[in-house]
Amino acid sequence: MRPEPLFPLFAPIKALPGIGPRLAPLIERLAGEHVVDLLWHLPTGVIDRRYSPKVTEARAGTTATLTVRVDAHQPGGNRKAPYRIVCADETGFVTLVFFHAKGDYLQRTYPVGATRVVSGFLEDYRGGLQMTHPDHVGTLEEIDAIKRVEPVYPLTAGLALKTLSKAVAAAVDRAPSLPEWIDAAYVAKASLPRWRDAVHAVHRPESATDLEPNTPARKRLAYDELLATQLALLIVRAKQRKLRGRPVKGTGKLSDRIVASLPFTLTASQKTALAEIRHDMAEDARMLRLLQGDVGSGKTVVAFLAMATAIEAGCQAALMAPTEILARQHYKTIAELAESTGLRVALLTGRDKGLARDKLLRAIVHGEVDIVVGTHALFSEDVVFLDLALAVIDEQHRFGVHQRLALSGKGKAVDILVMTATPIPRTLLLAAYGDLDASRLTDKPAGRKPVDTRALPVDRLADVYGALSRAIAEGAQVYWVCPLVEDSEILDLAAATDRYEALRQRFGDAVGLVHGQLAGPEKDTAMAAFAAGKTRILVATTVIEVGVDVPAATIMVIEHAERFGLAQLHQLRGRVGRGERASSCLLLYQKPLTQTAQARLNIMRETEDGFRIAEEDLRLRGGGEVLGTRQSGLPVFRLADLAVHADLLEIARSDARLALERDPELASERGQALRTLLYLFEQDEGVRRLRSG
Ligand code: ADP
Ligand code: MG
Repeated sequence: MRPEPLFPLFAPIKALPGIGPRLAPLIERLAGEHVVDLLWHLPTGVIDRRYSPKVTEARAGTTATLTVRVDAHQPGGNRKAPYRIVCADETGFVTLVFFHAKGDYLQRTYPVGATRVVSGFLEDYRGGLQMTHPDHVGTLEEIDAIKRVEPVYPLTAGLALKTLSKAVAAAVDRAPSLPEWIDAAYVAKASLPRWRDAVHAVHRPESATDLEPNTPARKRLAYDELLATQLALLIVRAKQRKLRGRPVKGTGKLSDRIVASLPFTLTASQKTALAEIRHDMAEDARMLRLLQGDVGSGKTVVAFLAMATAIEAGCQAALMAPTEILARQHYKTIAELAESTGLRVALLTGRDKGLARDKLLRAIVHGEVDIVVGTHALFSEDVVFLDLALAVIDEQHRFGVHQRLALSGKGKAVDILVMTATPIPRTLLLAAYGDLDASRLTDKPAGRKPVDTRALPVDRLADVYGALSRAIAEGAQVYWVCPLVEDSEILDLAAATDRYEALRQRFGDAVGLVHGQLAGPEKDTAMAAFAAGKTRILVATTVIEVGVDVPAATIMVIEHAERFGLAQLHQLRGRVGRGERASSCLLLYQKPLTQTAQARLNIMRETEDGFRIAEEDLRLRGGGEVLGTRQSGLPVFRLADLAVHADLLEIARSDARLALERDPELASERGQALRTLLYLFEQDEGVRRLRSG
């Protein structure tokens, strides 16, 4: 049960004063559904309203707070002309300007003869001073509330800063005093404020420097967030480790035959990864290991050999893919690899129904199938294995290890291997998974040529068309990726459609188009036409189907490359350079480039090492944005910025470990405080596991 002092923070947003049914959904989408989410919605700027000159001294082009007397109202007369209110102090005049004004509201707010404090941006209009739509208006008694440094929050359409600020302030007022959960010695050493004081401080910045991530208050909150997640991870892992595993040892007979039959030799990192995996499988504990490597780095072969080991030990293995297409692709690959070995491989997806499915399920439960490849359908309760020892989960570019642990319930003691094509920097891995073991495929399979990567300003488009023309004449195929525009599917589509039309003018029917708005079969048709070489240029928004493999495609053009993140650029480029033929990648950019964009393009030209690119990405953008954010499935930190707070992560991790060693059930006074922390950051799952021991 959530501790009582936290109740007010977990009330719905609409419990806050002034937040009704119109505003609540806007704030929920922006920040989250509970009051506590507003505490985590940190200001990104400040407006200094302390400048409060006499009217004649006031400078146009600044934000100021003026104390004036209302002299006269000048309604606009028609709809287009603004409503003006002339005000003055003893030194001069200032005009307040309102468009689409409601006269009676203005009459009430600015009665003639009254003194008013107004704050807003001052402009010069035909020699006179004016303020259009003051941000704040109040009486002289309210001057202190107006004349201050005001935090600026990220907003969304339809939500005014004033409204959101009020809601945040109300949320901050609800923040209770909580027991200290951070180790006392560290609090003293790092001079951290108390939690409640930190919450107050971050929402009451005095200047822009107070917004920096390393102020004591921001550091404190970042540390809290990291401590909570690390603690939860450690609890979950500790429980998982307690579940007995069993040693799974292969004879080597099958895998040796497979290795001998491969048309290539394994790379050094494939061999290392395989040794690490086999070592884990042979241990009494349950394996939970990540196999990281770029698309095409050869993960599937490694996974297949690990499965062979399980089968040598007399058990079964399963491979789960995120989509139907990928499941089929894996099935095909594995069935081919297994052909000469006598291994029995089956495919199980959501499409299998009725008798055929029943028959397959019977074969699985009777051990007549060695390897089952499938989609989420493998989770289904009626899928029962005779003896499942290894589950391989291909996550491609998404993650969710915690949920996927469900598959480990399918066997007596299932070892889990998670494959991912996204290189995750070590810091991020630690933050997301704690001490999850990871194997990395770092070397490219032999025979791959580097991708010739160039950056070109978009005004050289004519040259690009010329080069494509020649390449296509020689048989090349081209991906042309159009950019993400402000996360808007519709704008993306417009950009892609325009490019498609332009390319068709020149290349005619050789151009295809695929984007997220197409229905499944249409998408399949467009992809199939490209795969078959019927179309030679495929224009796409960033939704190119994950895992699509067209070896003949050797050119990747990325338009507005400056708008993409590094990880995204890397993933896109990974679609070429997979065959024996030389490939190239053209990064078309719009001038002028920001420093960060320039740095990204440089890194892309310098290296194809996904791990190095991921590290640079983290450095340039911060953890929250790596991998194109939320869809990645990695936890998104709201207070911690891993590009800045990586040192805090290490400290939080060892603090969490120590706290659990001393007090595994979190029963002591500090333990209780840590439980509160877990609830505060909605790591309820962690506390529950603690309880259910
Ligand atoms: P991933 O699953 O990491 O995307 P795959 O396992 O599908 O990559 O491998 C991509 C291609 O490379 C496959 O055609 C595979 O047969 C081949 N391959 C794998 N390992 C090697 C190797 N060591 N040398 C040469 N080719 C390899
Ligand atoms: Mg084991």
